[in-house]
Amino acid sequence: MFSSKLTLYVIRVNSLGSFVDSAPCVDCTRVMRMYNVNKIIYSNERGEIVKMRFKNYIPKTISIGRKYINSGYYLPLHKTSSYSCGY
Ligand SMILES: [Zn+2]
Repeated sequence: MFSSKLTLYVIRVNSLGSFVDSAPCVDCTRVMRMYNVNKIIYSNERGEIVKMRFKNYIPKTISIGRKYINSGYYLPLHKTSSYSCGY
């Protein structure tokens, strides 16, 4: 097991060079617990850098991959909303 001094940095940048939400998802958080992460630093949805102790972190997001698995591996070819015209 790794030392509890481990700090994990997770940053996402959009095509304009701005920070966007990189908060770890539920699955990543589970793996981070296995590696005994002490602190995490990530960018939030407002483009701010957040630094906190990992034990206080509560994941709020589910990854696109997890949604796909949870849906029974259903891959929609088109957005259904574009076909809900109501005619
Ligand atoms: Zn994740």
